[in-house]
Amino acid sequence: MKKITSLKVVILLLFNLFINYSFSQTTNESAKRVAIPNPSILTLQNIQKAGIDLSCGPKFVNNNLHLELSYEELLLLDNNGISYNVLINDLTTYYKEKFANELPLAKAALKQEQQIAALKKASKTLSKKSSLIDNPAQHDECSEIDWAVPSNFKLGSMGGGFTLSEAYAELDLMRTLYPNLISVRTDASTTNRKTHGNSTGSTTWAGQPVYYVRISDNPDIDEPNEPETLITGAMHAREIVSVMNTFYFMWYILENYSTDPFIKNMVDNHEIYLIPISNPDGYRWNEVIAPGGGGLQRKNLRPGVADNGTTNSSNNVRGVDLNRNFNYYWGWDNSGSSPTTSSQTYRGPSAGSEPETKIVQEFIASHDIKVAVNHHGGLNSIITSSYNGSVSATDSGREDEYAKICHDLTQYNRYVYGSAPNTLYEANGDVNDWMLGGPNVTSGGQTSSGSGKDVLALTPENGDDFWPAISEISDLSSEHENEFNISNVFW
Ligand SMILES: [Zn+2]
Repeated sequence: MKKITSLKVVILLLFNLFINYSFSQTTNESAKRVAIPNPSILTLQNIQKAGIDLSCGPKFVNNNLHLELSYEELLLLDNNGISYNVLINDLTTYYKEKFANELPLAKAALKQEQQIAALKKASKTLSKKSSLIDNPAQHDECSEIDWAVPSNFKLGSMGGGFTLSEAYAELDLMRTLYPNLISVRTDASTTNRKTHGNSTGSTTWAGQPVYYVRISDNPDIDEPNEPETLITGAMHAREIVSVMNTFYFMWYILENYSTDPFIKNMVDNHEIYLIPISNPDGYRWNEVIAPGGGGLQRKNLRPGVADNGTTNSSNNVRGVDLNRNFNYYWGWDNSGSSPTTSSQTYRGPSAGSEPETKIVQEFIASHDIKVAVNHHGGLNSIITSSYNGSVSATDSGREDEYAKICHDLTQYNRYVYGSAPNTLYEANGDVNDWMLGGPNVTSGGQTSSGSGKDVLALTPENGDDFWPAISEISDLSSEHENEFNISNVFW
């Protein structure tokens, strides 16, 4: 009897141990915010070599590098002997609680701001901001403009960002309110490869179309004589400001067309194409794993890759990094792109393998885009090209144009700019290099091709958080209001 009791105790103890072990594993495997104290250049290079993206999302706070990393990425730091301090142990829970508190307050504050903006618009003042979000990476020799926040701009339910259906409802509302200035949302794919479902064009792995809209004076037709610009967002799904600033920009143009001669001139003589969400699968996955915001899915949802056998869990490691999947210099080395499927910079099994990549490529091929602004999130900067060996903004023969456009775009938001290898971080298979690049580059036995369309392409890295405080979304989105300076390129 005594023996049985002892056995029972041992079993109970083992059971408790198992429960505790399972619990601690679950806790440990959550995404974390970590700080790497005073990283040297060598440490930064080692972080990059480990396959962690230092363009989108890194934040410097008092010389410490803050990163939000998945369990798999933390293992990469561990395996490479890079030490870090954990600041937030479970980001999913952290964001859930934080955003639930912030959203109603931020919505009320935005409403108030819009009432003030309406008065300002009546008096036609364009004032400087009285206070600035403290961003150490930004330069400080100019001011930021306090743009009058558009009266239709709103916050979404996902950490202040729109869910996919909220974003599409906004596009539809824009068309309803301004049918003479914006097209209906349209499938961006021009080829029916029947990837999935019965879409007229190609779809994502999950069967979703990628949508674009056109803003112009005759929005339902492509006027052959008007220069064209493309603006994209959310190629990295978790970089929420890359979406919200696009909507802010669109509302600003639509609402001010009839009263601002500069905007009217731009819209009348120019076609602006927008693909606000170029990675809808990754974006929707963030809604699934964190409906209230804070989801950390970056890549697309290519199936069967790197989910550690936990396909149904809320992890964020599956898929391909679309901004490493473009054909130009794809996979020439491991600079900023990874052959490892679980890596956040996994470049895919072959160049241009992903349906979302193909859709953007088709879109560029079927238009005459002069300038492309591919929005991302993090680092308060504009990156003009990403791979050291590629035709880049510094050896393309278009240096003056890049310098001019970057100057104009950063005039009022204080972003630093330059090519990625010169600013911090290089990567191959990037969309900007492909858009700018020409055909058939051969080196070391490898050949690759850019779009051949000579598109002046660049990437603003907006803000320095994937998921900023909701109260900052409107302000951060407004930092790209002066993007209508892109039209200066043509005149
Ligand atoms: Zn990004």
